[in-house]
Amino acid sequence: MHAGREDLTGLGVHVPPIDLSTTNPVPDVDAGGQSYENLATGGRPGARDTLVYQRLWNPTVARAEAAVAALEGCEEAVAFGSGMAALSACLLAAVSAGTPHVVAVRPLYGGTDHLLDHGLLGTAVTWADAGSVGDAITPLTGLVVVETPANPTLELLDLEDMVRQAGDVPVLVDNTFATPVLQQPRRHGATLVLHSATKYLGGHGDVIAGVVATTPEWARRLRSVRALTGGLVHPLSAYLLHRGLQTLPVRVRAQQASAQVVAEHLAQHPAVARVHYPGLPGQDPLGLLGRQLAGPGAMVAFALREGYAAAAATVSRTRLITHAVSLGGVDSLIQHPASLTHRPVAAEARPHADVVRLSVGLEDVADLVNDLDAALAASSSSSPGAGTGSGTGSGSGSVQVARQS
Ligand SMILES: *Cc1c(COP(=O)(O)O)cnc(C)c1O
Repeated sequence: MHAGREDLTGLGVHVPPIDLSTTNPVPDVDAGGQSYENLATGGRPGARDTLVYQRLWNPTVARAEAAVAALEGCEEAVAFGSGMAALSACLLAAVSAGTPHVVAVRPLYGGTDHLLDHGLLGTAVTWADAGSVGDAITPLTGLVVVETPANPTLELLDLEDMVRQAGDVPVLVDNTFATPVLQQPRRHGATLVLHSATKYLGGHGDVIAGVVATTPEWARRLRSVRALTGGLVHPLSAYLLHRGLQTLPVRVRAQQASAQVVAEHLAQHPAVARVHYPGLPGQDPLGLLGRQLAGPGAMVAFALREGYAAAAATVSRTRLITHAVSLGGVDSLIQHPASLTHRPVAAEARPHADVVRLSVGLEDVADLVNDLDAALAASSSSSPGAGTGSGTGSGSGSVQVARQS
């Protein structure tokens, strides 16, 4: 609520000013040069420094960063133009330190999986199981990358175990699904906590941004990468992100309460083969709820008994819930991961074609349940074409099936 706003009363204002300056007047060449040197190498500006240029520092962005750092229990945070820009900066920092090998645990967000698999930024990935992270580490390993709860199927990882296996190698946790309201990876030993702030942190579907909460040493490296490569978040987006954070805890708790109701309803629905939601019985085998994760969150995935055709029909037939990618906003969104968000993932690791992902919003939960029931009824075997011809009725259909659509 208050982080990043501590000076406002002194400024005589109630909400943060938005600083849009791309450049800043320089007092003299010596002082300007020193400020440039400090900021370009990732330093924070002193009280007397000129800010030089927006790619080096922006006060509105710094306010949002301070708030995310406070929420995550980290000393600092560094914001970027998107979640992928934030991840890219972490990977480039590892590459430039001479440790380009990454150990990663699937499932991950499709874009993360694709970037790691592709090696575009000079990294080389080893995909590991949760139990074999330690065995995959080499002297060239610069990062361990994990996501929990994972996108899209909500698998949970024990972060303390990941950190233990990683040893000296920093662990990067994508905390987008949990938000700092439910999970603070730094408490469990993670070095880098990454968010697609596009999702819950912004929370209203009008901001694209990424942020990494971390140690001062890593923040310095990330700011230096940001200054060099320019993956900036615009100050207007940073302002909206900062504003979104003020309601983050109430949004997450209310959306989570509805998600629990929706998940329980889907679990007993005849058209649904299985529901992926950590708040359902048997879905927290490691006992992480209450210990690492304060609650199951507001993302629900579910598989349709009649496979791909029924899944594709369901996402097209909701009326209140919007058929769209992204998640974490105040309104509910539904999508088919194998066709969309996880399309670039290698076939063997792609979500099954019968799976639908739902981001539960702040609508009245009865309206959400009614909307899902109507979509599921229309998508079941009584409707023409559903569950036939695709060969995915077992739920094991894969991307190829999705692409045939
Ligand atoms: C959306 C998302 C990303 C990527 O973030 P962008 O802001 O879209 O670049 C990364 N991780 C997770 C878990 C996501 O959901």
